Amino acid sequence: MPLTLTDLTPPDGFERLVLAQHPEAGLRALICLHSTVLGPAAGGCRMWPYTDDAAAIHDVTRLARGMSYKNAMADLGLGGGKAVIIGDARQDKTPAMMRAFGEAVEALGGRYWTAEDVGISPEDMAHAAEVTRYAVGLSGASGDPSPWTAEGVFRCLRVGAAHVFGSDDLTGRRVLVQGLGHVGLSLAEKLAAAGARLIVTDIHQAALEDAADRLGATICAPDQVFQQEMEIFAPCALGGVLNARTIPDLTARLVCGAANNQLASDDLTETLAARGITYLPDYVVNAGGIISVASEIHGKNDAWRLERLAGIAGCVAQMLERAAASGQPPARVADAMVEAMLDRKRAA
Ligand code: NAD
Repeated sequence: MPLTLTDLTPPDGFERLVLAQHPEAGLRALICLHSTVLGPAAGGCRMWPYTDDAAAIHDVTRLARGMSYKNAMADLGLGGGKAVIIGDARQDKTPAMMRAFGEAVEALGGRYWTAEDVGISPEDMAHAAEVTRYAVGLSGASGDPSPWTAEGVFRCLRVGAAHVFGSDDLTGRRVLVQGLGHVGLSLAEKLAAAGARLIVTDIHQAALEDAADRLGATICAPDQVFQQEMEIFAPCALGGVLNARTIPDLTARLVCGAANNQLASDDLTETLAARGITYLPDYVVNAGGIISVASEIHGKNDAWRLERLAGIAGCVAQMLERAAASGQPPARVADAMVEAMLDRKRAA
């Protein structure tokens, strides 16, 4: 049986939800276009062993909507979309499956651009790219997005520091970086170069020892993060680290990090604000990676990427000013800024 695409009823406010199946290639995937108001939808493809289609639909729609917001705020001329392949990336993934996925992307005629996400490597994307023009994040093209993500987080963190502490000088500021992976390590290096007093945590001891040796960082055990005295918290590992259990113990006055979905639930925005903690929304500050991917879509150079990075730092400054004037938490202001942008474009 060849590839089939079946349109499912998308949730309210979403443009399209497509089930792509290719039984011979073992492909069962969902592609969600949340919005193409600002341009073709762009967002990665994740492979995950979802328990059923409902779980996959829940994830792909939430992620696609998040991409609309992230791409809008970063001014990329792109809408938001996402794809999920149902299966175990370690056992089920094959080149044939990735080519079948590429065929599905191609069949959408450029309304959706894909790239790698959890469970999908640049090599996997290269198989998809054999049959579609709309696959990016390939080796030898825009390259690893992580350094761009780290630079974006660093710039936004300085803007946040200026707002919270009255100066963007990080000399002597106690910053805890959680997760020394691709983004976290690069961010820690920038913070150390800017004179911050670093505290680092990771589940890999070697990464911690390297940061202690090279950057003079203090090491903290992963389960001791919320027992540390810090001024700035930079979550760069997992989602959901800020929750009802951890927030009461958080000593930081500013949160700015790369991890996606740092808040366990949206309403915690208000909980953080009530504790006097300024939380810079993850989707705004971690947009450096999609900026890098977008440069590949649009055929742009490093100057364009840097301009867009400066743009997200500018958005953070605006968002903080408006938050101070309105008394609303910055994350609510950010959402309102994006919704206004989408409304203006729809009206035009
Ligand atoms: P990564 O996998 O390279 O690094 C994650 C690090 O976190 C690893 O070193 C891991 O050992 C560590 N870790 C895992 N569990 C931990 C725990 N309980 N406590 C402390 N450390 C722990 O990932 P990355 O590419 O650096 O991305 C980091 C985060 O930023 C992820 O949430 C990712 O979704 C998000 N993000 C990344 C990019 C990018 O360009 N790479 C872009 C946007 C968002």
